[in-house]
Amino acid sequence: MTNYGLENWGEDNFVIEDGKVCINKGSNPAILDIVEGIRSDEITGPILLRFPHLIKKQIDTLFRVVKNAGKEYNYNGKFKALFPLKVNQNPGFIKELLEVGQEYNYGLEAGSKAELILAMAYNNKKAPLVVNGFKDRDLITMGFIAKAQGHDITLTIEGLGELLTIVEVAKAMDTPIPNIGIRIRLHTSGIGIWAKSGGINSKFGLTATEVVRALKILKENNLTQYLTMLHYHIGSQLEDITPVKKAIREAGNIYAELVMMGAENLDTIDLGGGLAVEYSMDRKNRTYSIQEFANDVCFLIKSICQNKGVKEPHIYSESGRFIAASHAMVVAPVLELFSYEYSENSLDLKETNPPLVAELNELYQSINPKNAVEFLHDALDHMESLLTLFDLGYIDLQDRSNTEVLVNLIIKKALAVAENLYERVSIREKIQERYLVNFSMFQSMPDFWGLDQKFPVMPLDRLETKPTRTASLWDITCDSDGEMSFKPESPLFLHDVDLDEKNYFLGFFLVGAYQEVLGMKHNLFSKPNEAVVEVTEDGYKIKRFVKSDSLLEILSEMDWDIEEIKAKLFREISEDLITILNKNLEDNGYLKKIN
Ligand SMILES: *Cc1c(COP(=O)(O)O)cnc(C)c1O
Repeated sequence: MTNYGLENWGEDNFVIEDGKVCINKGSNPAILDIVEGIRSDEITGPILLRFPHLIKKQIDTLFRVVKNAGKEYNYNGKFKALFPLKVNQNPGFIKELLEVGQEYNYGLEAGSKAELILAMAYNNKKAPLVVNGFKDRDLITMGFIAKAQGHDITLTIEGLGELLTIVEVAKAMDTPIPNIGIRIRLHTSGIGIWAKSGGINSKFGLTATEVVRALKILKENNLTQYLTMLHYHIGSQLEDITPVKKAIREAGNIYAELVMMGAENLDTIDLGGGLAVEYSMDRKNRTYSIQEFANDVCFLIKSICQNKGVKEPHIYSESGRFIAASHAMVVAPVLELFSYEYSENSLDLKETNPPLVAELNELYQSINPKNAVEFLHDALDHMESLLTLFDLGYIDLQDRSNTEVLVNLIIKKALAVAENLYERVSIREKIQERYLVNFSMFQSMPDFWGLDQKFPVMPLDRLETKPTRTASLWDITCDSDGEMSFKPESPLFLHDVDLDEKNYFLGFFLVGAYQEVLGMKHNLFSKPNEAVVEVTEDGYKIKRFVKSDSLLEILSEMDWDIEEIKAKLFREISEDLITILNKNLEDNGYLKKIN
């Protein structure tokens, strides 16, 4: 695997040219060149790159497949899409999304007060705005204000209590009434780690009994005309189509029933999100195409409505992950290879060495393509024995150091002389190299830490050369969970690089959904530097750049009083030392260079 499964997860967004990963647009700029262009003495450490054209691509795809399906099944309802803010609320993303989504009148979905404020401020007035999630009277009142501002807003109720509050607010306020949606509790749920949003025991939505009751409450209060939408969301990253289809059938039937029961203006089904993204570097996890999904939506809803003699509804989609994941990647420099210090220079053999150390040295001197595997096994064996001898006090620290150096030299030499040695699964784990990477997994890929979610990773250059080291990646937090390791059957191969000669950058892809806001300041690492990259005909433009927070900023965000900190820091030291410390305080916490 030298293209790192790009054909599996890359969606033609990237191509490899001259050994570099390039953006497949315009003049195909290399990501490495973009990164080198941004980096300076001040700006080191990880960089998050955003590509607005990839947001547009996902939106275009979504609308295209639905249009195809609509034609195929002669579907008469309209299709609209909203972005669920919880997936990525960053201005660097949302502003781009609203810009590229303008031609589709792309809307926003809010699930909390703060998200609603964002939607009220930035959503296009004609675009749909849906409010999901639990609501108190204040939140509902904010929804009424949004309506008064002219927003096309729907308040989706998660329970009957919310509906009763809407009835009260409607009576109390002398303003237009927003549309009302009902989140239904389907018995269908998704599969996998994000399935908890659906199912009969899910946290959200009204049961069938409550739905019937809701309609009754609306009728009693002469508000039935405001009920326009049914909503459901059965979970994220739905890799299998079966639950998706089941949910559509269930929701379609509830919709038709409610229309027949007198919900005269009910005309929309909001499918929620859940479309899956292919994160895997070596196999297809998502088993359906986006076109198949759209076909199922149109076909199933159309046939249910035909059978029950009601008009087919408009369709809303709240796809988040599918729209946002591919637009962002994190680029982080490798700081160090674990075996870096094991060069011949650090070998310090004695006049007389313990027999096993002497033997290791002989293995090292005489290793050749024929005996490489055997010698490597012997060396690993000897190392085990020598470490035991050290524990028992039979060899000294210098002998132990020589053992480490020799074994690492033997691994390197074996890999160099014996072709395809690294293809042997049995020894991959034993000869793994550890790469220290200048980033925090907790900040940049929290789902890897919390849910073991895998993200594609690959070096940004040297792809013309076959990588031979099975790698595990360490971030620079002081937490052993900040390690990304790979199974011997599906290893990550990286290059054996000399970082004194040239930097080595790794790209972590598909981090545009959920990772940023879930990212945490563990060890007080800040968000990485961030750049919005617009790919033009003949190159690229940095449209927006946000520097990673400085030490003072991150401490201040933690509610530390920075004036107090400074007063304590600068006690009893000279002006010169204060200047040095001050400079450090203005930098972020990532590392510059280790050697
Ligand atoms: C989280 C969420 C979404 C987005 O789900 P994705 O799997 O990211 O597409 C959509 N709607 C609601 C109500 C949500 O809670």
